[in-house]
Amino acid sequence: PAIELDGVVKEYLAHGEVVQAVREIDLTIAEGEFFSLLGPSGCGKTTTMRMVAGFEEPTRGTVRLHGQDVTDVPPDKRDVNMVFQSYALFPHMDVWENVAFGLRRKKVPAAEITRRVGEMLEIVDLTGREKRRPRELSGGQQQRVALARALVNRPRALLLDEPLGALDLKLRQAMQIELKRIQREVGITFVYVTHDQSEALTMSDRIAVMNDGRVEQLADPREIYERPATAFVAGFIGTSNLLRGTVDRVEAGSAVLRLGEDGRILVAGAPHGAGDAIAVTVRPEKITISTEKPAGNVSAVRGTVCEVVYLGLYNSYAVSLADGAEVTVFQQNALDSASTAERGDAVWLSWQPHHS
Ligand code: ADP
Ligand code: MG
Repeated sequence: PAIELDGVVKEYLAHGEVVQAVREIDLTIAEGEFFSLLGPSGCGKTTTMRMVAGFEEPTRGTVRLHGQDVTDVPPDKRDVNMVFQSYALFPHMDVWENVAFGLRRKKVPAAEITRRVGEMLEIVDLTGREKRRPRELSGGQQQRVALARALVNRPRALLLDEPLGALDLKLRQAMQIELKRIQREVGITFVYVTHDQSEALTMSDRIAVMNDGRVEQLADPREIYERPATAFVAGFIGTSNLLRGTVDRVEAGSAVLRLGEDGRILVAGAPHGAGDAIAVTVRPEKITISTEKPAGNVSAVRGTVCEVVYLGLYNSYAVSLADGAEVTVFQQNALDSASTAERGDAVWLSWQPHHS
C-alpha cells in the first residue's frame, strides 16, 4: 500500500479545551489509486492530510508511506507532495520558472530540469505558455501550473486539498476530468480532499466518507451511492429519503415494516426481529409513482402529492405520507411526457426491496 493510517488521532488544545480534529482513523490507500476523503467542513479532512504530509504530528497512531513508518519523519523527507486550494504561485516568476523552482533548489542538472519541466507542461497542457506570469493565466491554468510544480518532483503520492475550490462550476467540472486524465497518465497515488460529493463520485476509485473525525464508510463511488452504510452517508451523498418504522414481522429473510393502513416496506437480509425500530433510506430515482396499488414483491406506501417541480430531464415530486413524513421522488420525463401525477393526487409509491 502507498499510505496507511493506523489508529491515527489528532487532538488540539484550543482556549484550554481539547478539540478532537481526528478521533480515530484507520485507512489503507493502494499504490496508484485515486482516493478521496469526502465530508462536510470541519470533519477533519485537512488535518488528516497534514498528518500524511508530515505538517502535523498525530497525537496517537502510526502513519506509514510505502510500508515505512514515517510518523516522526519531517515533510521534506517524505515522498509526498501537497497541492492546496490557494496554489500560491510565485507572482514574479513565469510559468516555466514556477515549475522549475523545486528542481533548481535541489540542484538538479540544467539539462534534466529543461527536459522534466517540458514534459510536465505538456502533461498539464500548458506547452506554449512558458513565458506567462501567473496573473496572465486563467484560474484553471494557474491550478495546472500548481499541479505541474508538485508533480515535477516525481512524488510517489500527491495530496490535493480542495484544489478546485476557487474555480467556478464549469471550470471545476472540466478540471475534474483533466485531473483524472493526468493521474492516469503519471500513474501515481492521488489523495483528494473535497466536501463536494459529485466531485468525489466523478473522479475516485474509492471514497472515504468522513464525519466528525471518523470514517463512516469506505467504498467505491457506486457502492457509496447505492448502498450508503449509515444515515449520515445517505443524507450527505445525493438526495435520499429516510423512512422510520417498526418491524411487524420477518418473512422469508425480509423484515416487513407496516406503514399506514396498507403500506409496507420490505428490508431484505436485515438482521432484525419483530418490534425493532429501524430507519430505511431510499433514493428518489428508485421510486415509482402510480395511481393503482402496485402488485408483486415490492415496498409500497400510500401518499398525497404536495408539490411537483419540472426540472427538464425529470420531475421532482414531494409526496407526504400518512405519518407526516415527506418523500422526494424523481421521475424521468418521457418523450410524450404528461406528468404522471399532479398536486393533490392520492398515489402509491413503490420500489424494489434491494433499493432500500
Ligand atoms: P476540514 O478540512 O474537514 O474542514 P479540519 O481538519 O480543518 O477540517 O478541522 C477539523 C476540526 O479541527 C475543526 O473543528 C477545526 O476547527 C479543528 N482544528 C483544525 N486545526 C486546528 C488547530 N490548529 N487548532 C485547533 N483546532 C483545529
Ligand atoms: Mg479543510
